[in-house]
Amino acid sequence: FFIALEGGDGAGKSTQVQALAEWIRNKGHEVVVTREPGATPIGKRLRSILLDVASAGLSNRAEALLYAADRAEHVDSVVRPALERGAVVITDRYIDSSVAYQGAGRDLSPTEIARISRWATDGLVPNLTVLLDVSPETARERFTEAPDRLESEPAEFHQRVRSGFLTLAAGDPARYLVVDAGQEPEAVTTVVRHRLDRMLP
Ligand code: C5P
Repeated sequence: FFIALEGGDGAGKSTQVQALAEWIRNKGHEVVVTREPGATPIGKRLRSILLDVASAGLSNRAEALLYAADRAEHVDSVVRPALERGAVVITDRYIDSSVAYQGAGRDLSPTEIARISRWATDGLVPNLTVLLDVSPETARERFTEAPDRLESEPAEFHQRVRSGFLTLAAGDPARYLVVDAGQEPEAVTTVVRHRLDRMLP
């Protein structure tokens, strides 16, 4: 069973990933928690290229391909092997982040970005994608560390990313759960657990 958590920066994805993993483990499943970009040794190198402020001049298409390379490596060496042995995999970001950031955010074609990701993952789609939706203003208030390359993008960029995510979710309501991530973290976890309770064995 494959779950993806998606959302803008500061939506609280990592907190939710941990809370859900603990809950699913308590139900008796093996849970693999993972993330993009940077879950594998090659991925860590790609992540440092992608997020370094020194990569400010990286072209939009090169950026999209580096994310796709990270994802291909991630699916091949972490996600598929775990799913094949029956584990529940929870990933902090997946294809939708590319469609939203490199597509909607960078003004590349979302359809093309989705196509590259489909090829990179050999068509692996999550059983459930949880979109933690929060306004860029609320998200920004949550930043405590120095911003990385993306977090320094203007508000309009983050607004386009948010709309990109919401458009994806609206197109496939059966596979998405959109949660208001402006709520308290416990309230968000409860909503997600409720949905998963009906789906997980
Ligand atoms: O979620 P995490 O903080 O690990 O993401 C790292 C950075 O990479 C974030 O600033 C996020 O906006 C950016 N990112 C991106 N495109 C993706 C995935 C992440 O621009 N496909």
